[in-house]
Amino acid sequence: MALYVMDEANRCLQCKVPQCQKGCPISTNIPLAIKLLKENKLDEAGKMLFENNPLTTVCSLVCNHENQCEGHCVLGRKGAPVHFSTIENYISTTYANKMTEGPKPSNGMRVAIIGSGPAGITIAIILARYGYQVTIFEGKDKIGGVLRYGIPEFRLPKSVLDDIEYRHLELKGIKVRPNTLIGSAITIEDLFRDGYKSIFVGTGVWNPNTLHIKGETFGNVHFGINYLNNPDSYKLGERVIVIGAGNAAMDVARTAIRKGVRRLTCFSITKEVAASQYEFSYATLEGVEFEYNKRPVEIKDNGVIFRDVIENEDGSFTDVDGSDTLYESDSVIISISQGPMTRLVNSTKGLNANKRGLLEADETGHTSRPGIFASGDVVNGARTVVEAVAHSKIVAESMHEYMQSLKDSTD
Ligand code: FAD
Repeated sequence: MALYVMDEANRCLQCKVPQCQKGCPISTNIPLAIKLLKENKLDEAGKMLFENNPLTTVCSLVCNHENQCEGHCVLGRKGAPVHFSTIENYISTTYANKMTEGPKPSNGMRVAIIGSGPAGITIAIILARYGYQVTIFEGKDKIGGVLRYGIPEFRLPKSVLDDIEYRHLELKGIKVRPNTLIGSAITIEDLFRDGYKSIFVGTGVWNPNTLHIKGETFGNVHFGINYLNNPDSYKLGERVIVIGAGNAAMDVARTAIRKGVRRLTCFSITKEVAASQYEFSYATLEGVEFEYNKRPVEIKDNGVIFRDVIENEDGSFTDVDGSDTLYESDSVIISISQGPMTRLVNSTKGLNANKRGLLEADETGHTSRPGIFASGDVVNGARTVVEAVAHSKIVAESMHEYMQSLKDSTD
């Protein structure tokens, strides 16, 4: 692998205006990382990557590189781009083993983080660097959010998340309270009572979007995000229909195939899948079939009735009369994105959400209630890991500024 990594590194042109860095949502200094590696300064390169992006090991595996760094590499115009994802993965995983530094001296101020997805983890790591006493409250039994309970093992090994938990949380003195859903037994008001100087909400979007069609409540119907949470608890049968064709639907389909489903078809209302080209091609290689321009109109015990649609130029659809057809299946999985839960908004005075239920917050994460900050999917809707991390970096600094101003006013 090292030889391959160096071959890739040697292909980098060290552009004066690096397009790869421009294409990276977190602006990773790719030319510098490659230069340091070529100068045998792997540790320096690793340190630089982690300081810029605490989830560099994760991003090297799950970012949409074809549209980001690699999609912008000038070499890609005529041939293969430099595969920075491979280089980043090599540097970050090798350097991670050396990250054994303990906690920073405490500044005596408590911070609560609700949710341990990419947003919450990023905030926790940055604020711990400043010496805050950080406690993460997580509804599930382990940290990671979608990284652990959505993205399957074959794309993102759980060991990567266990390593983050050990190195970035445990060693740094960050406390995690698992199986603790804020908004029920403990509320945000309780956290303020107990002296947390600010509270971060990074609860993501976990409420499956529904089709609102007849049959959606039947026993053979499941939601994609719930299925991925624990695929082994489902008995899907041999033939499965997945409604949806985005990246999450590809994860559902590829997981179900690995769990023994014999025939799996993804149905898309549009004429192309919404998933990335890589995810689509892996799914195709693994035997997933696709049907396009079909709208589900009713779910039955033995399958789904779809109606053909014509896609209009303005993005709307026209139904084709008389085209209703039953496509048989043993199970149906609906995977058409997610929206936020309402628990925190309902249980917290002054915390506002917009019409879609997403938390209202400004660019630096201030919500409608002073002292409560938010970022990631719960603010922006279903997006990507790197976007959650990039946004959270800004929000962590604004929380720091807010808490320092509290300190100054009591000095
Ligand atoms: P989340 O990751 O959703 O984390 C929120 C956390 O908050 C969860 O752990 C949840 O249990 C916890 N929580 C919720 N409510 C409470 C509460 N009241 N109290 C305590 N804890 C609570 N992006 C990519 O870049 N690449 C990919 O390959 C990719 N694949 C994806 C595959 C799937 C199936 C899905 C659904 C999404 C995928 N995404 C991908 C999107 C990406 O994972 C998300 O954008 C990202 O995880 C958002 O991070 P977050 O921290 O905002 O939220």
